[in-house]
Amino acid sequence: MLPRNFPPPQTCRPDHIGGGSGASESRLPQRLSFGQAKLVGTEDDRGGTVSNGPTTPTMDPAAAPVALRDDMSPYEAATYFFHSAADRLNLNDDMRAVLSTSYRELAVQIPVRMDNGRLEVFRGYRIQHNGARGPYKGGVRYHESADLDEVRALAALMTWKNALIDVPFGGAKGGVQCEPGVLSREELQRLTRRFTAMISYVIGVHRDIPAPDMGTNAQTMAWMMDAYGQKYGYEPAIVTGKPVELGGSPGREEATGRGVVICAREAAKRIGLDWKRARIVVQGFGNVGYWTSAIAHELGATIVAVSDVGGGTYHPAGLDVEKVKEHLKEAISVATYGGGQNISNEEMLELDCDILIPAAINGVINTENADRVRAKLVVEAANGPTTPAADQILQERGVTVAPDILANCGGVTVSYFEWVQNIQQFRWELDTVNFELKKRMKKASQQVFSYAAERELSLRDAAFDISVQRVAHAAEIRGYV
Ligand code: NAD
Repeated sequence: MLPRNFPPPQTCRPDHIGGGSGASESRLPQRLSFGQAKLVGTEDDRGGTVSNGPTTPTMDPAAAPVALRDDMSPYEAATYFFHSAADRLNLNDDMRAVLSTSYRELAVQIPVRMDNGRLEVFRGYRIQHNGARGPYKGGVRYHESADLDEVRALAALMTWKNALIDVPFGGAKGGVQCEPGVLSREELQRLTRRFTAMISYVIGVHRDIPAPDMGTNAQTMAWMMDAYGQKYGYEPAIVTGKPVELGGSPGREEATGRGVVICAREAAKRIGLDWKRARIVVQGFGNVGYWTSAIAHELGATIVAVSDVGGGTYHPAGLDVEKVKEHLKEAISVATYGGGQNISNEEMLELDCDILIPAAINGVINTENADRVRAKLVVEAANGPTTPAADQILQERGVTVAPDILANCGGVTVSYFEWVQNIQQFRWELDTVNFELKKRMKKASQQVFSYAAERELSLRDAAFDISVQRVAHAAEIRGYV
């Protein structure tokens, strides 16, 4: 059934938005009084647009439902799942209006002098979706598709993810629309420093803490920390996912992949799938895809195929994940790995396997292929890999889907541990990090499974219901709504 208030309409109701989401927010006007930026949709003096207002489309109770489409934007897809939960929970219109829009959206211009002397101007965003449960938290993505709509969607997903794994954060996301693969290291550093300076007015150790996402990594976080530190002094907790030498947490680099595997194993148990006999396909061989494959393999499962943007490699008897990784030292894609058969990204998703793990981009499982997915279990390591329409098809076909907001929350969990360690100036051992991660991932997975079983819901619906209730409750008891 379509959610009552879907699609998100164009009407804005300023009385519902922008009231500040917590004590930490009270510092913003003070900073702004130094003339560094202006609020409410105005141009700031460095070319950015800071908006405290309701710039995301909000709901119109009279809006007619539309058919689910594959070409829904990432934001439409994310709000679709939210509105479905809001319907099931009978969320009132005031709360719906607040939770279906971003709290603050900052769009900035990032002029970068390229190595060839030319000036290129990039577009960057930091979107803070909801801060009822704590400071905003979410990664920064460098990708050509990272536009306002995509970053908005990812910010909202962070709110739900952080609530589900029960870390004391709200949700945010950053993005720069660029092709990181074609930029030199120096260009990337200049872009990162400029972007950090531009968003520095709205981030802070107790306000908003960025982390890596697609196209960014520990090095990017080191540059962000340094650029922020040049302006505000040494603050390692300003970003997470830093190199360990600069205050990063042991275990953070592999945390998202480790969490994906913990969730996959719990879900496999639930559907009676023997892990040691499981044949797994992983799309994407970056940070999350590689670590997911490596840890799943180490724990006895068979990785039959992996891929990246250049294509995939398949071996029905199993790939040696470390050898594939080794191959990437010389090659630009896993597709040319000699120990497997070359396969396209489209074919990958339809392979005969037990567990399919999309770990790259959004929308790859859609109405074109959902009927042909042969896995019994889909574990969403990427954000938004399944369109709402495909999600319905998978549900009807009895394919279990461990949703993104559950499956990939290991990264933000260890980011939380890193933030805690930075604030306390006390480093944890790797064993402690992994123990705490496992404990939290298992607990969240079990909560979702029980909720789903009790109410006969899909795991995604159960995960959204739990998260939305937690965030709505926090907003209510703070007096925010
Ligand atoms: P990454 O940049 O390290 O790797 C991305 C991988 O996806 C690369 O192998 C790339 O070649 C591949 N890829 C890109 N476009 C593709 C396409 N069209 N088809 C197939 N493969 C493609 O990024 P990452 O950090 O591993 O993130 C991957 C996904 O996981 C993203 O959706 C991200 O939002 C999500 N995620 C990441 C983290 C984290 O901690 N890094 C946490 C939670 C969720």
